[in-house]
Amino acid sequence: MTFPIQKTDAEWQQHLQAKGAEPVAYQVTRHAATERPFTGKYEQHWADGSYHCICCGAKLFDADTKFDAGCGWPSFSQAVPGAIKEITDYSHHMVRTETVCSQCGAHLGHVFPDGPAPTGLRYCMNSASLDFQDLAPDAQP
Ligand SMILES: [Zn+2]
Repeated sequence: MTFPIQKTDAEWQQHLQAKGAEPVAYQVTRHAATERPFTGKYEQHWADGSYHCICCGAKLFDADTKFDAGCGWPSFSQAVPGAIKEITDYSHHMVRTETVCSQCGAHLGHVFPDGPAPTGLRYCMNSASLDFQDLAPDAQP
């Protein structure tokens, strides 16, 4: 699978460092690592705004689709249409659906079919893959 945004590992490492991303962000997004549960900065983060790819800045989720799944990672019931690509993941003796950023291929987490209505989906994400942005001042009600 190829993505519109291509960088080498070294370039991503440098880019994430320059952005002030968490140290674990590089391993999570470029090498599909998983942060420890209940440690991510967005696990219990409920402000209004949107969540973007830490690597390329593409918008992935609206804050109003975030819910508390109790699983230890930030969870969302719906992704921004087209923002995420799904890949079947056979690692760890399981069949899961990996989710990556459709712009840059960053590993985000997995999606499971046990989420709330109406989508029935649970996007189980790594905080380190996400960059929260407040609502823009002109978008405030
Ligand atoms: Zn991205």
